[in-house]
Amino acid sequence: MNWLSQFFFGKVDFPEKEEFREFQYKFLILLQIFGAVTSGLYVFLGHTGALGAFNTINMSVILAHSILLTLFWLTLRGRKQFYLPIAWLTTLATAVDLFSSFILVAADEVRILWIVVTIPTVFLVLGLLPGTIITVLEIFAIVIINPHVVMPLSPNALVTVVISMIYAIVFYHAYNGKLIYFFTSMRSSNDQLREMATRDLLTNVLNARTYYEICDNQISVAQRQRQPFSVLFIDLDHFKLVNDTYGHAAGDIVLKSVAECLTRSLRASDALGRVGGEEFSVFLPNTNADGAVALAEAIRRNIEMLMPSTGEQILKITASIGVARNSHSEQTMLDIQKQADQAMYRAKAAGRNRVSSIDEVVA
Ligand code: GH3
Ligand code: MG
Ligand code: MG
Repeated sequence: MNWLSQFFFGKVDFPEKEEFREFQYKFLILLQIFGAVTSGLYVFLGHTGALGAFNTINMSVILAHSILLTLFWLTLRGRKQFYLPIAWLTTLATAVDLFSSFILVAADEVRILWIVVTIPTVFLVLGLLPGTIITVLEIFAIVIINPHVVMPLSPNALVTVVISMIYAIVFYHAYNGKLIYFFTSMRSSNDQLREMATRDLLTNVLNARTYYEICDNQISVAQRQRQPFSVLFIDLDHFKLVNDTYGHAAGDIVLKSVAECLTRSLRASDALGRVGGEEFSVFLPNTNADGAVALAEAIRRNIEMLMPSTGEQILKITASIGVARNSHSEQTMLDIQKQADQAMYRAKAAGRNRVSSIDEVVA
């Protein structure tokens, strides 16, 4: 059914935050097609004599309506930026079409029903305020025009129409207001859920899964553009001792403050993930080995000077940092992370609270 949707709506891409506009866009196009086809069919039936005598001006207006709606559809199809002007033009063309029948057709009063049943579409397509304004204007127009139309509505019918239109305003105001509210609140809950699914709950940095996904994407971009990149692997020293001495809650406070310290030390384009209990990894796009070692050293010093407070004690925390960088085009994040790991263990073995690079390990 993809081809059918492509035929009606064209090639359009709505980001998730525009889902209500996407609904309006598709709804308007379906209305245009429905209006063009039914108006065209009406004119065709009129000319075959199936509808009896007809008013030629009214028939011309209905034919113009059918042609205009087709043109509006073709203009809007695939061009969502034209939505608002086309929505207004469609509404106006339809109002002219319906009022033409109301004024010119000498037939039963039921034709007024069209004006009433199209009210909800105006609310959906244009919004609450334009929907209200247009409906109020239509009420005034009907009352003022009625004595002059070919076959006026009886006073009783006129009162019925006005009351049902006021009812429609109140109902669709409430209904569409609620609909828009649901769309927007669903979107913000989705955003929240996504945020929760990508972040580590304790430290609010990226969780391991999201971090590695981002790294994989960044690596393919960097390899395509032949840009250097580096990875830091940061493991807190003797962290078990912090938990054992001051308790798990104190350990959590330390992890949070280290994560904040790391975030402060990085650029917006760098990625930071918590990849283990007290292990963080940093992806540095566009950064060669020298730059990465210099940043790792700055981070090591920042963590050493952090002195997080648990409320009762001020703790001294240090970290060992391994640095790896891309060396050939086929490397995956797994290879590079392994090398950064290796370098980190070397820093541990050399006495902790230091930076070690994979180049020293290899050399
Ligand atoms: P090393 O210098 O060799 O890295 O020593 P270490 O004690 O840091 O190493 P180890 O990996 O043995 O200890 C990591 C500890 O981190 C063990 C675990 O209790 C603690 N840990 C892991 N996740 C959390 C967490 O979410 N909160 C707290 N408070 N502690 C955690
Ligand atoms: Mg560890
Ligand atoms: Mg550790």
